[in-house]
Amino acid sequence: MKGFEYLQQELDQMKEQGTFRRLVPLESEQDARVVINGKEVIQLSSNNYLGLTNHPKMKQAALESVEKYGVGTGSVRTIAGTLSMHEEFEQKLAKFKHTEACLVFQSGFSTNQGILSAILTDKDVVISDELNHASIIDGIRLTKAARRIYKHVDMEDLEAALKETQEYRKRIVVTDGVFSMDGNIAPLPKIVELAEKYDALVMVDDAHASGVLGENGRGTIDHFNLNGRVHIQVGTLSKAIGVLGGYIASTETLRNYLIHKGRPFLFSTSHPPAVIAASSAAVDVLLDEPEHMERLWENTRFFKEGLQALGFDTGISETPITPVIVGDDALTHKLSDRLLELGVFAQGIAFPTVAKGKARVRTIVTAKHTKEDLQAALDAFEKAGKELGIL
Ligand SMILES: *Cc1c(COP(=O)(O)O)cnc(C)c1O
Repeated sequence: MKGFEYLQQELDQMKEQGTFRRLVPLESEQDARVVINGKEVIQLSSNNYLGLTNHPKMKQAALESVEKYGVGTGSVRTIAGTLSMHEEFEQKLAKFKHTEACLVFQSGFSTNQGILSAILTDKDVVISDELNHASIIDGIRLTKAARRIYKHVDMEDLEAALKETQEYRKRIVVTDGVFSMDGNIAPLPKIVELAEKYDALVMVDDAHASGVLGENGRGTIDHFNLNGRVHIQVGTLSKAIGVLGGYIASTETLRNYLIHKGRPFLFSTSHPPAVIAASSAAVDVLLDEPEHMERLWENTRFFKEGLQALGFDTGISETPITPVIVGDDALTHKLSDRLLELGVFAQGIAFPTVAKGKARVRTIVTAKHTKEDLQAALDAFEKAGKELGIL
């Protein structure tokens, strides 16, 4: 069919530059080791931090819910698609997060898309970290509010932004809790202090902290003992929780408001029973089985120290997200491809996901990896790094 030649040209250019990527289908369940092209390899690219994607209790809960309630809901939440399990799960999640209320969206992405445009008008301003996740950036694009981007985790620039914007009705400071490409944690105690000083709201996107930081994986707010001082916590059910979905943990007022004004919530069908049942079981797993988080952090320390001892640049990571920063886009993809040949799946990430010249192979260990898995991965990194002149 004719019509897309202009797009094909761009794709051909990517192929010449070595930045064209194909999807990599897994032929197995998501786990510490996965099957790709018929070969078992060590998985270092998933967000399955706690290994919950195939936890027996969660699978069982999903199966039972399908038997009892079927596979779909047939409606958006606000018309006929709210099952009692949706509301029960939200109450359970709110209790877990030490907040008044929760509201679940279809994904973390749609949660961020739905909030800012719903609660802000052209009288307001969003103050956002420059490295916030794409879904926050898109959320900001959808609001009529003014925007002020501050330099990455730069608290002087944040304070300047708060001083400059005092004439607005509402100011909201938005940050990732853990930054997804570098694995550093936002300086939340300072952010909250500044927001309180200048009477601004705070919204924290804890996608990479849910199940990873804080008591039983409650996230960065709990990690820093800031419960009750952050107005909106965004979480995802898609990463450490192992299923799919996003949510806000906040007040009853915000929950009720988003039920009326949160567009992805209003205009997109609700989660099927299996998603809610599995996610609900995941909260029990977080509370009853702290060993997964302990393993995750043990593995994180082992692997991060191993990469650093080999001489790789792992940037400023403080979490299980450990980037191996290479710089050049094409060389990064070569490293990733060579690692796959050596039995390690670690995806290269280049522009536009990260800045030009900051391309990296991003690794995330999980609770399910054994020491042998991680040592084998380190050996592969050493071999590939030397072959390609990175080490
Ligand atoms: C992954 C991610 C999201 C999106 O979550 P999904 O549930 O996968 O849609 C949102 N924010 C941040 C910071 C993320 O890392």
